[in-house]
Amino acid sequence: MPMHIQGTGVSQLIAVGIATIVLRGHINITYRHLQADEIPKEQQRYCQAIANAQQRLSNISNNLPDELPADIRSLINTQLLMLNDPALHKTPLEIIAKEACNAEWALKQQHNALLRIFENIDDTYLKTRGDDITHIVNRIQRILLQEASLSDMVTKMKIKDLSRQILVINDIGPAELIAIHQRGIAGFITGFGGPLSHTAILARSLGIPAIFGVHGAQQLLESGEFIVIDGEHNTVISSPDRRMQRWYRQKIQRYKDRQKALDKLRNQKAISLNGETIELQANIELPDDIRLAKRSGCTGIGLLRTEYMFINRENLPNEEEQYKAYRSVIRRMKGMPVTIRTLDLGADKKVDSGRSDVPLQINPALGLRAIRLCLQDHKLFHTQLKAILRAAYGYDVRIMIPMITTLQEIKQVKYHISSVKSDLRHRGIKYAEIIPIGTMIEVPAAAIMAGSFAQQCDFLSIGTNDLIQYTLAIDRIDDSVSYLYDPLHPSILRLIKITLDTASAASIPVSMCGEMAGDSQYTRLLLGMGLREFSMQPSSLLQIKEIISQTNITHATHLANQVLSLGDSAAIHDLLETINSTTLH
Ligand code: PEP
Ligand code: MG
Repeated sequence: MPMHIQGTGVSQLIAVGIATIVLRGHINITYRHLQADEIPKEQQRYCQAIANAQQRLSNISNNLPDELPADIRSLINTQLLMLNDPALHKTPLEIIAKEACNAEWALKQQHNALLRIFENIDDTYLKTRGDDITHIVNRIQRILLQEASLSDMVTKMKIKDLSRQILVINDIGPAELIAIHQRGIAGFITGFGGPLSHTAILARSLGIPAIFGVHGAQQLLESGEFIVIDGEHNTVISSPDRRMQRWYRQKIQRYKDRQKALDKLRNQKAISLNGETIELQANIELPDDIRLAKRSGCTGIGLLRTEYMFINRENLPNEEEQYKAYRSVIRRMKGMPVTIRTLDLGADKKVDSGRSDVPLQINPALGLRAIRLCLQDHKLFHTQLKAILRAAYGYDVRIMIPMITTLQEIKQVKYHISSVKSDLRHRGIKYAEIIPIGTMIEVPAAAIMAGSFAQQCDFLSIGTNDLIQYTLAIDRIDDSVSYLYDPLHPSILRLIKITLDTASAASIPVSMCGEMAGDSQYTRLLLGMGLREFSMQPSSLLQIKEIISQTNITHATHLANQVLSLGDSAAIHDLLETINSTTLH
């Protein structure tokens, strides 16, 4: 009799396979008192364990797959750095000496102290980073206790065909997931862990079927039984009958066929049924993401979120470091256009490194964020502008400004850009003299005033993530109001329409780089409303290209006008379903 067990799907993927339960004992640490002469030897044993952990992690780090996004790549490297941090490599040695205790006990004390610091942080994202410490501490503890690594445990099980196995484990760290995934396992089920953990993000970006947080998974499932992971429905199905297994296998096959079909579009242009060519560009966060972007078949970078180079580090990047990073992105795009957005720090993208003056803000999303911060901190802004202008020399690069609310801000930005240019000129440094400057439309005020803004800039780009947040007054990181998030709210559609029409009247390009641009349910509507340049996560690009190739924009325009005449979200949702299910030839 099939049994459905609920968890959290971390990717939408499905796997059918055999449960392999890996019981890793709870790490049981006991106190052992040392004689004074035993202390140096114990400290040496601890240092050896750290060296061992470093060796194993370096092996993983040197064999990371190409398709890994840059932030996950840097996570593994962060774990390596953590091992070098005095908090892990020095303090436990001091505890061993001070408390005359065994290394495991000393590390446990230090782990508890570190977790207390993380628990007091009032930030969901940072809180989950406490998991990273736990993973690295557990790794050291298992080495101290001479336990086999997960990879060795799987080897000892002597399983013939790993590609048919689904690993059921209580908890797994990102580095372990990579090591096991590389051996071809079909999927993962964990007893703990949420969708925000790094292991979850990793599973998503590597396209690994996985369900996390299935409490009691190791007791509810049996080693050797058939199971299904249904990531779409956040479910694990144990003992599925033959009919169910066949149904899921067909679904997996359809998914693979579809991926193959989409792959064929990679080197084709995005052309609609009525012959219009649409620009599909990629959003990237760190220079290394360029690999993923290029593989997606994009025609340029529509949004480089530069702020990710500034967070999660101790010192701000200087002009040279920024120059090198931007230049490497631009060069690797080989002449394709690259839009670099100036710093969008603040709100959920906090930077404290090197800044002791960041004031406490009651409403950070409405506070000193993005261009507001740059216009107050000239040193920060000028350093970035210099790096961008130098990197842009000889290439097709545009500068994009986030969170513009007033015309005055655009004028100030232009003033700063000219003053930085004149500084570079006087110093005889090469830079891009002619560089388009564009404004993001992320605040309702900006959409309403798009006409005057268009007079002052060379292009506009609609940031729907913030436009929705500010128009509907919903904090985009607050789960409790996420039910109000609605890109089809008539007010949002009207603000988008105003922006598209205004840019067209002013004959300047307009793109969209918010999540809405990469969500296939809105593609036809946006085409019908007049959007011709989309920028999105590389992973969405081929699907959007396919929809464009199946759309006659003349028909889509007619239907989009009907949508825009409606004042009720529910009616808009209904009409959108019709638009998406109709053949628009
Ligand atoms: C947006 O707001 O839509 C956008 C693209 O910017 P970010 O998501 O980086 O705030
Ligand atoms: Mg934004």
